[in-house]
Amino acid sequence: MIQVHPLPAFNDNYIWLLQDLSSQRCAVVDPGDAQPVLGWLAQNPGWHLTDILITHHHKDHVGGVVQLKQATDARVLGPATENIPARDVALTDNDTVSVLGRDFTVHAVPGHTLGHIAFYHHDATTPLLFSGDTLFAAGCGRLFEGTPEQMHESLSRLAALPDSTLVYCAHEYTLSNLRFAQAVEPDNRDIAERLSQVSQWRSENRISLPSNLALERRTNPFLRAHETSVKEKADERSGRDNSTPSAVFASLRAWKDTF
Ligand code: ZN
Ligand code: FE
Repeated sequence: MIQVHPLPAFNDNYIWLLQDLSSQRCAVVDPGDAQPVLGWLAQNPGWHLTDILITHHHKDHVGGVVQLKQATDARVLGPATENIPARDVALTDNDTVSVLGRDFTVHAVPGHTLGHIAFYHHDATTPLLFSGDTLFAAGCGRLFEGTPEQMHESLSRLAALPDSTLVYCAHEYTLSNLRFAQAVEPDNRDIAERLSQVSQWRSENRISLPSNLALERRTNPFLRAHETSVKEKADERSGRDNSTPSAVFASLRAWKDTF
């Protein structure tokens, strides 16, 4: 079994540490800073960092790669179409890679950046998704490079994974995302309940992750563009008739940018 543990970095990033307890091998996802990882390795002698998984090229996700690569002999796996420092393995859509002896499937999810990928692992136990800055808990990444249509398609693809999939995204944005979600759907009780729970957690400085896809489908407005109430709110805010879920998504994303 793989154990997943957050290493906080910067203000609101999480570097996910994956541990294979039987072999004492570990991997990290999106080390924007090497220090949290090197600190963990120093405090946990006997553990061997074998892999560095990268979802996209932004500095807060790749900033620690070169230093980690120098300090360990870890392999760097990242999207083929982006400029990833020290990359050893270039990944494209539907590739399967073996990490810690497990298969991870690569999903191309353009939108936040054009080459953004997500890593999905599904075996007998709970499925895991490392979604980077694409799918956040109750939200989604900004559109820096892709179109709303691309991002909507990418999110729809991730949303089609099993309900029980645990979602490990790269930022602690859940509380502000839920405030937006509540503005979109003031009558959604699942959102109200989650907002109160996450408010409590954050007031105790606890992490709000991982999420899971069942919860995301109920509370993430960006996965709910097909819902009538969401469409009506998007129409009201944008002053136009958003005739497709993708258009609804585009209006929601534009609204969130200035929320
Ligand atoms: Zn990013
Ligand atoms: Fe980021």
